[in-house]
Amino acid sequence: ATPLAVAAGIRTAIERGIIVTTEAVFEDAPEIETVVLDKTGTLTEGSMSVVSVHADRSGEVLRRAAAVESLSEHPIAAAIVEYADRDSIARPEEPATDGGVTPVDPGEFDRTSQGVSAPVDGQETVVGHPNLLEERGFAIDDRYRNRIARIRANGDVPVTVGWDGRVQGVIAVGDTPRPEWRAAVETLSADRAVVVLTGDEGAAADRFRSVEGVSEVFDGVPPEAKAETVRRLRTRGAVAMVGDGSNDAPALAAADLGIALGSGTQLASDAADAVIVDDDLRSVPETFTIADRTNGRIR
Ligand code: ADP
Ligand code: MG
Repeated sequence: ATPLAVAAGIRTAIERGIIVTTEAVFEDAPEIETVVLDKTGTLTEGSMSVVSVHADRSGEVLRRAAAVESLSEHPIAAAIVEYADRDSIARPEEPATDGGVTPVDPGEFDRTSQGVSAPVDGQETVVGHPNLLEERGFAIDDRYRNRIARIRANGDVPVTVGWDGRVQGVIAVGDTPRPEWRAAVETLSADRAVVVLTGDEGAAADRFRSVEGVSEVFDGVPPEAKAETVRRLRTRGAVAMVGDGSNDAPALAAADLGIALGSGTQLASDAADAVIVDDDLRSVPETFTIADRTNGRIR
């Protein structure tokens, strides 16, 4: 593409809510054969919400979970903190928070790609994917296992909360697909293979399966393994990765072309070649169209 065409491409992109940070986007985009879409925050709404809380002491589960999550920037964290605040007003007899969430000590806070942990009231409290709590040695009663399965069957995400050696409650968090996701996939799949990548299992992942235009869904892929999946897909041809979260940064960097959804984190944006700032998934296929036009492939 000529420098003038590139300048025009950058300007058109900005008008459509796309910030191109690497000029190579215009050369790389037309070569892409596979587009990998992260699920949470990319195919689904960037904001999540608590659907239900299952515990004997739900006030305490919420209070501890919110205290730890208040230092996380994951959409699940925001949902839990917001819900804990609202729940305390709705159920003053067992408030999860007392006029606001009390965050844990940042020096004791630990985050992994599958959840977060910190001592609350002197007891290490872990909040995250059931696999993380199992790895950390927390026992999960059958009652909670059944609940986890039911939450998944519903298309929601189960977040387990544990301290004192066992899972003490499960919080169901709603993961709603973005209204425009089908339109975006349809346009993308006209020219390339579309693959969905998620750490979650069950209906939350399944609803993207057997959809026209989606050639494959990789579920149960922990964030650390996403970059590896991208590298594996690259053996078949050039790959674009679309993600939003800080834990997507390695996968964005591993792809030939990384596209970050701007409602996500700085870390994801830094690792990306293009950033979608209008929070519309259709800007992803639009990026490819603009690149084609910049290269004079279409008018
Ligand atoms: P996806 O792979 O669908 O994009 P993420 O990579 O953002 O989802 O997270 C995968 C899973 O890790 C979440 O569904 C959740 O179970 C767990 N997880 C990650 N961060 C947190 C957190 N801050 N709090 C609770 N759970 C978390
Ligand atoms: Mg994600």
